[in-house]
Amino acid sequence: MVRTAKLNCDKCGLGVRKEKFLKRLNGGSYCTKCCIEKRAEHREFLKRDVLGIRKREDLKKEWAAKRKEKGIAKTNAPKIKGQKIQRRKTSSLGLFITLDEKKVLFLKYIKKGFDQKEAGNKVKLICKKMSELLEKLRKTKKNEAEINTAFKEKFARMVER
Ligand SMILES: [Zn+2]
Repeated sequence: MVRTAKLNCDKCGLGVRKEKFLKRLNGGSYCTKCCIEKRAEHREFLKRDVLGIRKREDLKKEWAAKRKEKGIAKTNAPKIKGQKIQRRKTSSLGLFITLDEKKVLFLKYIKKGFDQKEAGNKVKLICKKMSELLEKLRKTKKNEAEINTAFKEKFARMVER
């Protein structure tokens, strides 16, 4: 079977005289420069998305985005007082487990030696128990500050386990 020689980099399109000047990587052919870039990208991917390590610059960007989001949420907040405002107040007290918290918990269990499935199940269980607790606390009709304290205490205890 005749295979036509590949003489262009898959990423930047750079032409080479001979096929051997292109390097094969994950099913593609790349010039030396792009090959180095692709490897670096993959290392970053492993660090950030698999190990959850992030650069300070990225964290700064995330924080800025969150601040922006909050700012927008504030300006969009309804002006009439009512249930919606009440709900917003509740979430700003932290009565839920954020995605970041879930990630931290997950990594904690991985480090403890649980496999991914076990760690995932543990995180799910904690989230479930916390929302059950929140429901219970709401039924006691305590004020938001009391509920918040109770929620955080319970969360800390569950996480320590
Ligand atoms: Zn290239």
